[in-house]
Amino acid sequence: MTIQEGVVKYQCEYTPAPALPAAQISELNAWRKLMVLARLIGQNPDLYGGYGYGNISHRLDTIVRADGRHPFVITGTQTGGKAELTPDDYVVVTACHPEENWLAAQGPVKPSSEALTHGAVYALDSQILWVVHAHSPEIWHNAEALGVPMTANVPYGTPEMAAEVRRLYAESDLPQKHIFGMAGHEDGIVTYGHTAEEAGFTMLSYLVRALQISERKN
Ligand SMILES: [Zn+2]
Repeated sequence: MTIQEGVVKYQCEYTPAPALPAAQISELNAWRKLMVLARLIGQNPDLYGGYGYGNISHRLDTIVRADGRHPFVITGTQTGGKAELTPDDYVVVTACHPEENWLAAQGPVKPSSEALTHGAVYALDSQILWVVHAHSPEIWHNAEALGVPMTANVPYGTPEMAAEVRRLYAESDLPQKHIFGMAGHEDGIVTYGHTAEEAGFTMLSYLVRALQISERKN
């Protein structure tokens, strides 16, 4: 069974706070816009129970922290359907503990339900500063042919997903590829990088390769 998008099921200590300055989210917002154009982030009444899907985040510090806990800014919950976001649609996750299923967030909106998975990726390596979670049936269905590492079939945004991300990082070629698929989350793909370009272009280049495979099948 696959788990649908849009159900917030973790403990969130949420504190309303003013939005970040527009300059601090402009790169994030530009990449998100491109992902929406490519339908890698969005909302469709016929898909995923009609919930918004996909989200993008950016770590706010470049400090190497031994505990791997880094504040990051992420799109708010259920923003997938909006073509244009403003600073009021972004929130800062100030503490993220995927293994305990809780996080703390501050901002004008509650964080996306995928924030725990983003936090689990940031905890892998202090060099990871950008994470993109998209929905791509093309990449997801061709994951094996593309050599995309896949998690076991566990629900997204859970301690089990965080453990699967750590396992893939240790056991697969995820550290070289910067992409993985979520077997228990229909069409769910995650890419990451030190820069927005690394995370964003990894997603786009795998999509292009997947489209070529789909074409050959037709
Ligand atoms: Zn998703």
